[in-house]
Amino acid sequence: MLGDNPVPQKGDRVLVPLGKRKTVGIVTGVSETTQLETGRLRSVIRVFNEVAPLSAEWLAMMDFAADYYLRPRGEAALSALPAFFRQPPTPAYDKRLQRLRELKQKKIKHEPAPELNDEQKSAAQAVSSSTGYSPFLLFGVTGSGKTEVYLHIIESTLAADPEAQVMLLVPEINLTPQLEARVRGRFSDTAVVTLHSNLTQLERARSWLALHEGRARILVGTRLAVFSSFKKLALVIVDEEHDASYKGGDGMRFSARDVAVKRAFDNKIACVLGSATPSLETWQQVLKGSYRLLKLTHRAVAAAHLPQMQLVDVSQRRPEVFAPLVKDAVTEAIAAGGQVLIFINRRGYAPVISCTACGWVSRCVHCSGFTVYHKAEHRLVCHHCGTRYEVPSHCPVCGNAEILPVGTGTQRIEEAIAALWPEARLLRIDRDSVRSKSAAESAFKAVHAGDVDIVVGTQMIAKGHDFKRVSLVVVLNADAQLVSPDVRAEERLYATLMQVAGRAGRAERPGRVLIQTRFPNHPMYADLMAQNYEKFAARLLKDRKESASPPFCRQALLLAQARTLDRTMGFLRRAKEKAEGLDSRDVIVYEPVPMPLMRLKDWERGQLLVESASRARLHAFLSVWLQALSQPDARDAGTQWTIEIDPVGI
Ligand code: ADP
Ligand code: ZN
Ligand code: ZN
Repeated sequence: MLGDNPVPQKGDRVLVPLGKRKTVGIVTGVSETTQLETGRLRSVIRVFNEVAPLSAEWLAMMDFAADYYLRPRGEAALSALPAFFRQPPTPAYDKRLQRLRELKQKKIKHEPAPELNDEQKSAAQAVSSSTGYSPFLLFGVTGSGKTEVYLHIIESTLAADPEAQVMLLVPEINLTPQLEARVRGRFSDTAVVTLHSNLTQLERARSWLALHEGRARILVGTRLAVFSSFKKLALVIVDEEHDASYKGGDGMRFSARDVAVKRAFDNKIACVLGSATPSLETWQQVLKGSYRLLKLTHRAVAAAHLPQMQLVDVSQRRPEVFAPLVKDAVTEAIAAGGQVLIFINRRGYAPVISCTACGWVSRCVHCSGFTVYHKAEHRLVCHHCGTRYEVPSHCPVCGNAEILPVGTGTQRIEEAIAALWPEARLLRIDRDSVRSKSAAESAFKAVHAGDVDIVVGTQMIAKGHDFKRVSLVVVLNADAQLVSPDVRAEERLYATLMQVAGRAGRAERPGRVLIQTRFPNHPMYADLMAQNYEKFAARLLKDRKESASPPFCRQALLLAQARTLDRTMGFLRRAKEKAEGLDSRDVIVYEPVPMPLMRLKDWERGQLLVESASRARLHAFLSVWLQALSQPDARDAGTQWTIEIDPVGI
């Protein structure tokens, strides 16, 4: 019922009563008749028609995302809106809305485009001449000029249609302000907006509205930006498409890359995924012929060479932090006035047991994965199928009694550096040492200015930075990820190492990369040394096919947490029993296991993996299972749970 209000349209935001509260909702349909008794109807309090309704395309996309990721439709749609548009209006709503519409654009010096080389030209040409839904993979090493291709196709897309809008997604915008600056410099006469988590609520609302109303033509944003509302979306670009930070979120854990492709499909437009090390999901699409491959095979700037990479075998050595060869190389590099970057790979660290003499690693006999050491119960557990094993007292291959968790603590590494090079100016960069954006910026500034000799860091130093003075990169701890139980660990490690290696020798200094490893004969390293991604991908895909792992199966993870592990596991066991009573044709439901990081903030966490070769069968099963789990006999007030689709860290 409408009271004195104008008739709302589909896609309008409205203020409605909900119990005693007032809340903002989105109109999903308008009907003149109803089956409900009039007494149960409530009036719309206000229609926010100062802003155009959300488009049918946007509503359909949000419905799709909600259904795919098994979230309530209303929750999904509302959480995709900036707070300003999803909360009940403040008294000054109209005035503030007016101010939001004033899009201030700093005057920026125009940067002319360089002439594209032949490979870049044909890539740009292929995209610009495509019609309808056209997914592409732009595959080229760091520095091969992918960004230049993006800028070129953005330009032709905008030139072809005065209303066209472009969405450019990047994995972490606070680490790549260069890209934003490059886009703004190239398109100095065009309205460019950004959307990412470092903006204030009002800045976000301003960008969102400018896109919704078609005033902004280019969006540079991170994962959340994928749900923006456009007047006329004409091109989608996802840079570093393999990056794990596209997947995540607190409520709905979605893949921004996958949603971006879906939007291109719905809008019947081109979609360009760019990477030097594509995800196997994307690479498989290329092999199947679903995505078109565009290749850039060499660096765009002739003087910049790919760095020289070398493995340092530390399998036969007592576990000191640095091998002698690495020690000498660091000392030399500092003496020559270069910077040294020491990369500690903490990601994917799970306590895997390994023999210090022969490199044996404990495996599950039923699965292709490694087993994880659970200290509390002193057992090895397979996180794929749940099988438990005794911890052997001796290596089953060589009989050595020293079998230890793989990996060295960061603390030990820092102490070793300080002891070996006491004169060197040392800077640590990771999420703990630089918590704020400004702290990160000043840390990176110090590196660029040459105020630092040795930089020690994690993932944060691997991405995108153009450190001109770095002449040596040392990689420690890579092995931990090589024997991780996560099926994507090897793929990620390859991508990370290629990216870290890309930090060396970016200017005139030749770059050198030293990787300490106890598994120098691992095939991943051979592919890495040859810098041959295609060979690497072929081998991994063959493995994945044989073990029916992603992308050859679809997975979902039931995640649960309670204050005690018994309670968590009790819920998961009931969930498994429930599943057995349902139609689970072509679906495998595994045993519940504690999560790799079992205890987090006093929550004891567990998981249960479900998979199927068929996405449709998996979803059919999940929607019935989801209902069964909400029934009184499965529920437990002390246990929180959620289902994650296409999980990435099992
Ligand atoms: P990527 O995105 O693949 O890492 P970029 O587009 O950032 O590569 O290019 C790397 C460097 O080469 C940049 O400094 C860029 O300005 C330069 N560059 C790219 N294409 C060309 C070109 N056709 N002519 C001259 N310089 C180029
Ligand atoms: Zn052994
Ligand atoms: Zn197993």
